[in-house]
Amino acid sequence: MAYTLIDGNKTAKEIKLEIADKVASIIADGGKRPHLAAMLVGEDGASRTYVNAKVKDCEEVGFTSTLVRFGADVTEEELLAKVEEINNDPAIDGLIVQLPLPNHIDVVKVTNRIRPEKDVDGFHPVNVGRLALNWPTYISATPNGVMELLARYQIETAGKHCVVIGRSHIVGSPMSILMARNGQPGNATVTLTHSRTQNLKDITRMADILIVALGKPEFVTADMVKEGAVVIDVGIHRIDDASKKSGFRLLGDVKFDEVAPKTTAITPVPGGVGPMTRAALLMNTLLAAEKKVYK
Ligand code: NAP
Repeated sequence: MAYTLIDGNKTAKEIKLEIADKVASIIADGGKRPHLAAMLVGEDGASRTYVNAKVKDCEEVGFTSTLVRFGADVTEEELLAKVEEINNDPAIDGLIVQLPLPNHIDVVKVTNRIRPEKDVDGFHPVNVGRLALNWPTYISATPNGVMELLARYQIETAGKHCVVIGRSHIVGSPMSILMARNGQPGNATVTLTHSRTQNLKDITRMADILIVALGKPEFVTADMVKEGAVVIDVGIHRIDDASKKSGFRLLGDVKFDEVAPKTTAITPVPGGVGPMTRAALLMNTLLAAEKKVYK
């Protein structure tokens, strides 16, 4: 079957251009540049890479960004004081705290301290609650990116059976809420599956739309997918590969080569959901700057 490759790189680029245009018109109208602050604690290499990428994305679209760095020995009080300072700084629209945090810092306390109006990661319980109520909110980056891909590729979701594999707070669970909401995309009949689900294959084979976020490389094989389904692969894994210049290759949670021919549309890894996750943070920061969620 000929399938559509859902191109996250291309779509993320389009979104960035749209946001850059919007920033230019805000400035032309005498407004101020959207401003994202990011907090990074410690020297974890992956966290540093992620934060640097977010800062670079900001520069690309014309946002102001502030990176606040702390050593791994920062106290919880110091961190919370900085959050409070940024909460009260009218020049800053959005604040993210890169996770994970060191064990001596209570991540729940930090998440709760960020003002919901500035919580562009969408992790604050108020914003998660607003998502559940189908109110305007900051949708967390990965589910937001997936919804944007479905919308822009005009994938029909209403009345479809959507199966989500994985129920994490940052991906699977919000994904299931969004697909079931009364909205567009949405209005799907949703089955949320997890590690205790029995007969998973019988369920995934009934999916018109299969969203995979369980964190196991190439877990979903062709026999688990219905002919003509749409498959969204959220998983991302670095696999050592001496034949590559980088020394690794990236795999998703879906065995792409055998699954893709059975689908009508599928996201690749890399170049699918990953770049959309980055673009979604910019979308939320723009919403914050324009006061579109909290008016
Ligand atoms: P997570 O917190 O580890 O959650 C995994 C979920 O999958 C859990 O709900 C778990 O069930 C479920 N699960 C595990 N094994 C299963 C099985 N055999 N059958 C059915 N369900 C199973 O992972 P996550 O943070 O959601 O991330 C999932 C994947 O997406 C990872 O590969 C991660 O790297 C990737 N990711 C990518 C992006 C991106 O930007 N592309 C962003 C975030 C995450 P239980 O709840 O029962 O344990």
